[in-house]
Amino acid sequence: MAQDNRTPGETRRVQVREVGPRDGFQNEPETIATADKIRLIDALGRAGLTRIEVASFVRPDVIPQLSDGIEVLKGIDLPEDVERMVLVPNSKGLDNALKVRDLFEDIALFVSASQTHNKRNINRTVEETMADVKVMGKRIATEGLKFCAVIATSFGCPFEGKVPMERVLDLAAEFAEAGATEIGFGDTTGMANPAYVREFFTAALERLPQVELTAHFHNTRGQGLANAYAALEAGCTSFEASFGELGGCPVPVGSTGNIATEDLVGMFHEMGVDTGLDLEKLVEAARAAQSVLGRKLTSHSLIAGPVQWAPAAS
Ligand code: ZN
Repeated sequence: MAQDNRTPGETRRVQVREVGPRDGFQNEPETIATADKIRLIDALGRAGLTRIEVASFVRPDVIPQLSDGIEVLKGIDLPEDVERMVLVPNSKGLDNALKVRDLFEDIALFVSASQTHNKRNINRTVEETMADVKVMGKRIATEGLKFCAVIATSFGCPFEGKVPMERVLDLAAEFAEAGATEIGFGDTTGMANPAYVREFFTAALERLPQVELTAHFHNTRGQGLANAYAALEAGCTSFEASFGELGGCPVPVGSTGNIATEDLVGMFHEMGVDTGLDLEKLVEAARAAQSVLGRKLTSHSLIAGPVQWAPAAS
């Protein structure tokens, strides 16, 4: 059982980071115009988010949805305190990212915990990826940028099934050694359950006390928010989510993606957990995404609206 070190009555504070403009848009079937992306990211910036994942330096022929990343980075107008994060797949991607180094603050490097998923995703073994991570980590430090790591399929792989916890935590330790100051654990295809998540984050926080650990859940099988709650109870204070419940994984077709930022934030606020975010503005941004895509999105708070407590009857 995780130890609770809070003093009674203390408000819990968590960080909720937005990944919709990268993780979300990447997996949507529609092509979203650059101007619309910029408008939506600016709307997210007004909701009080402290970090938004805005672009990716993967090859445009692999992920055409994100081929306008540099234009998006140049076009957005975010408050000073919002960190702009970009996803980088390898040293070549890092070369390209550093050409526009002034347009972002944070770099995310990623690997899949499962060998098969890593090979299918980026066509390299886990070992090859981690060797490159070590080289890239040094360059990121030299540039004075923040190095965030993402471990995909941390809670299960669609090809290999269960992924041993030790394997994931060993990779996290390797990332920390390479200079990562934050490590995200992704439930890429929604295979986690709350009991395992509690066990996992308890062990992870114990093993890596000096690194910020982030929970990144998908709602593929409807367990995303329950998993987020389990991570919170285990002591996790950093979460990623996607407005409108955008994105996710293209396999299986039709499955929902990341948990919706507004659902996660709504749940936290109802529980008295402070996020520093403006829920109404998040819902507004999700509504704007819905109208850009021209179809109903699956976010619950978008469909039902945030909880409104009726005034006490007189
Ligand atoms: Zn995701």
